[in-house]
Amino acid sequence: MIQLFLPLNFLGFVYREIRRALTDLENMLGLLNRQPNIKDNNNATPLKVTHGEIRFTDVSFSYDKQRPILNNLSFHVKAGSKVAIVGTSGAGKSTLARLLYRFYDIDSGEIHIDQQTISQHTLQSLRQAIAIVPQDTVLFNSTIRDNIAYGRPNASAEEIDTAIKLAHLNSFINSLEKGDQTLVGERGLKVSGGEKQRIAIARALLKNAAILIFDEATSALDSHSEQAILSAMREVANQHTSLVIAHRLSTITDADNILVLHDGKLVEQGNHQTLLAAHGEYARMWQRQQTTE
Ligand code: ADP
Ligand code: MG
Repeated sequence: MIQLFLPLNFLGFVYREIRRALTDLENMLGLLNRQPNIKDNNNATPLKVTHGEIRFTDVSFSYDKQRPILNNLSFHVKAGSKVAIVGTSGAGKSTLARLLYRFYDIDSGEIHIDQQTISQHTLQSLRQAIAIVPQDTVLFNSTIRDNIAYGRPNASAEEIDTAIKLAHLNSFINSLEKGDQTLVGERGLKVSGGEKQRIAIARALLKNAAILIFDEATSALDSHSEQAILSAMREVANQHTSLVIAHRLSTITDADNILVLHDGKLVEQGNHQTLLAAHGEYARMWQRQQTTE
């Protein structure tokens, strides 16, 4: 009886572990493919990303047909430049990032990367070219180090360590008994919003993609850590095209171009100085934030 009981118990354990692993996988896939009907075209070829130039031409999009979200949106991001996207909450900033990553297909218009229409190329090649730090990062159930390495599974130990340093995760990791082998995710250590963001930043930096998207990536950090991480991100972003969605305007005053979105429309664009001098929407947002800070 005991002989039978033990293996069964063990099998039960194995079964639970497999279930657990599958649930993690489902969570991760859910995260990556929120929209299952986004598929490769029959004759899709890999996207060739050499410079990281982005162009939106008359892009319109709605999650449901009743309510348009983006309206004939056109803009151009020069290869290697840093472009900020600002605007009130609900303006469509995160949606724009999701469309570039092709979580959803657009209703009309075109999105080009290096002069290729993204929907005509393979999802895998598109997503390989883009690293996103999303607004709501989900950590999967594994160690901190695995969560970062996931950005580029074949990265070397040194590369992972560099990403950890750039994202200012060292002191947090050193404070943990098991260091970067500490389990996180739903069943692991509860990490703060700021720590989660830093893990996501390390993951994205490690990916070393041609295009970087930061969606309010430092919103949960205190202003001291934010400044430290921003300067690290600036160094890395110098070699890439970066789209920075920002709530705090003080973090993007150095951007080459700033797109101001309002209700899914581009209402202004220019650099910080030009937009301040234009006394429009951006200048008003800047004034409002200066007085509250
Ligand atoms: P922002 O990032 O500028 O705050 P979002 O791009 O997240 O704005 O959202 C733009 C609009 O789209 C909002 O009105 C929001 O409620 C709506 N929206 C966002 N995500 C979804 C979704 N998955 N389904 C339906 N509507 C959505
Ligand atoms: Mg958003």
